[in-house]
Amino acid sequence: MLIDTHAHLNFKAFKNDLEEVVKRSLAENVWLINVGSKYETSKKAVEIAEKYKKGVFGAIGLHPIHAKDEVFDKEKYKKLALRSFGEGGKVVAIGEIGLDYDREYGLFKEKQKEVFLEQLGLSKELELPVIFHCRKAHEDLLEILKNNQIHGVIHCFTGKWKQAKEYLDMGFYLGFNGIIYKLDLNEVIKKTPLERILVETDCPYLTPPLARRSPAEKRDEGGRNEPIFVKYIAEEIAKIKNLDFQKVAEITAQNAKGLFRL
Ligand SMILES: [Zn+2]
Repeated sequence: MLIDTHAHLNFKAFKNDLEEVVKRSLAENVWLINVGSKYETSKKAVEIAEKYKKGVFGAIGLHPIHAKDEVFDKEKYKKLALRSFGEGGKVVAIGEIGLDYDREYGLFKEKQKEVFLEQLGLSKELELPVIFHCRKAHEDLLEILKNNQIHGVIHCFTGKWKQAKEYLDMGFYLGFNGIIYKLDLNEVIKKTPLERILVETDCPYLTPPLARRSPAEKRDEGGRNEPIFVKYIAEEIAKIKNLDFQKVAEITAQNAKGLFRL
């Protein structure tokens, strides 16, 4: 089996065929976590998870690029998490949250930090791991994490080995997706122990090149990514680390089950 630890089936790109996409995924034995980026998409992630008995989970959080268009209402998010606990623990993480200093987002760093810290507080309160989004802000993120005892994954890791090592030394997992085809992350992937790697799609974004030649791509014209394509990420990691695909699938699934208590 494989676990897509970062999907956005809660986004508009899937509004017409959400159920089919989930069905395809579960039929291929790919479990998935839908990750929120604001209150509305967090709520949607929980609603989707509630529909399935097995294999579909949710994460709730306010993404740093939305830190100034939404006032973070901790009680509202907490309610959402608790509602799902009653349904069998479907909210498995707080995320995606973090810091993003790319382009114009760097103009509201302080606001981002404030919202981020409040959400770290929520993750501690609910004893949930965190899915971190970090773009061009690793120094600040590392500084904050040093002072907070938190478990989680640095999703879509794009930093250098030096930063990767710091996260690993602090006990975090690194999440890899289709960005590994665009940026050279071979050194990081080679040096990161398989026991600390999670695979993800970040769908509908970052479609792996192999998936673009599939019937799904022709059907959607734009090459929308989806959870079943997480197999290409596991294959690429297996290639880079010179390991068997099955082993990468098995260990990364175990990692996800351990971190998110699936
Ligand atoms: Zn995402």
